[in-house]
Amino acid sequence: MTGHATIAVVGAGVVGAVTALMLHRAGVDVVVLEQRPPEAVAPTVGTLGEDLRTWALSPASLALLDELDVWDASCRAASCSYHGMEVWDGEGTGRISFTAAEAQVPELGRILPNQVLVTRLWDALARDGIRCVDGRAVVAFEAAATRSTLTLDDATTLTAGLVVAADGGDSKMRDLAGIEVDEEDTGQRAIATLAVIRQPHEATAWQRFLPTGPLAFLPLPDRAGQHRVSVVWSLDAEQAAAVEALDDAAFATALDDAIEGRFGGIAAVDRRLGFPLRQRHARRYRSLGLVLVGDAAHVLHPLAGQGVNLGLKDAKVLLHELRPHLRSGRCAALGDPDLLYHYERIRRGENAIMLRAMSGLKRLFGADDLGLRWARNQGLRWVDDLPVVKRELLRQALGRA
Ligand SMILES: Cc1cc2nc3c(=O)[nH]c(=O)nc-3n(C[C@H](O)[C@H](O)[C@H](O)COP(=O)(O)OP(=O)(O)OC[C@H]3O[C@@H](n4cnc5c(N)ncnc54)[C@H](O)[C@@H]3O)c2cc1C
Repeated sequence: MTGHATIAVVGAGVVGAVTALMLHRAGVDVVVLEQRPPEAVAPTVGTLGEDLRTWALSPASLALLDELDVWDASCRAASCSYHGMEVWDGEGTGRISFTAAEAQVPELGRILPNQVLVTRLWDALARDGIRCVDGRAVVAFEAAATRSTLTLDDATTLTAGLVVAADGGDSKMRDLAGIEVDEEDTGQRAIATLAVIRQPHEATAWQRFLPTGPLAFLPLPDRAGQHRVSVVWSLDAEQAAAVEALDDAAFATALDDAIEGRFGGIAAVDRRLGFPLRQRHARRYRSLGLVLVGDAAHVLHPLAGQGVNLGLKDAKVLLHELRPHLRSGRCAALGDPDLLYHYERIRRGENAIMLRAMSGLKRLFGADDLGLRWARNQGLRWVDDLPVVKRELLRQALGRA
């Protein structure tokens, strides 16, 4: 294959697929290159039949998916709306809670399995007639301001005016473009699974901060009268290895202890998926012929559940910055990095704040110093009592600009 596209998007995860749809709807000739074949849409489905990876989507992300006609009845049925958030210190009495009512919104967000969203997005790419080359990885990149060349692993090539790298945290495109990353290894792993709990989750996202890392119980729709949650448990690598090795019964007991028996016990657990936890931030988001979006640009600790939400914001700002150049017919020079100066400034700035906040929280809650523990418990109580500060935190969580 030798072809040309105005813009090539490498990677059709949530961020790449949404970026491609937005560009196509803006009238851009776009091609999507994805290394996975379509049947491998969800390699992470568990024994309970659902994807073990779930996304907490902010209202801003939901609105974008709705605008793109991606958010349909299947997404609504598979997702669980949450109206409350409860965060508490496992080592004290500090806690903070948020509700949709105090934010004056119908919901704080929705939890949705990855598989459902990616399937819907890949259907939308096909329905829009967007060219997709799947089952082949990009292995080489030759940069140019007007026509960069991508080589796939079957030695075929494609040229594009601009390459959008949406190929995830281990981005090959970022490496090929020589963009360096700052990396913070948290020394932790996250264990993701689904669990059936004995008492209702009350449409609330629960997060307990333990000295070993945060534990989140995120609400999923009830099935056959069973209350289900998506679990993300971050632990120091050594402890995680021990917990990952437990059988189902022992894991359910450990999980119940870690959440302080809040839901009357754990009736069943799915298989466990372990992820190394590291934070990464690309030093630049643009280079000749190429721009980074999503995890290719920034990988966050999952404790904020913001990875996809920030990636979708990248896509929105990228389109906004490209639009005048697409309109003025100056597509020929789309690969000129100067065009995306504002994109990098806006998105790198906001993502850096979130990355720093995650590192700070992780350190604060990992501390066993008595003074720090007192301060963080006081801090949580103060924030809970301060409407102005709470409103600002909510604004961030809701994905408002
Ligand atoms: C345990 C855990 C829990 C999380 N929970 C949440 C949450 O609740 N909410 C949230 O918003 N985020 C969450 N995240 C973060 C989320 O996983 C990422 O932010 C998100 O998947 C990034 O999407 P992406 O499209 O940028 O990258 P990816 O989902 O990684 O997609 C990259 C795509 O590129 C393809 N690709 C890679 N290399 C190539 C190549 N060379 N050629 C062609 N294709 C290629 C891959 O096959 C893949 O399809 C969590 C992360 C972890 C680890």
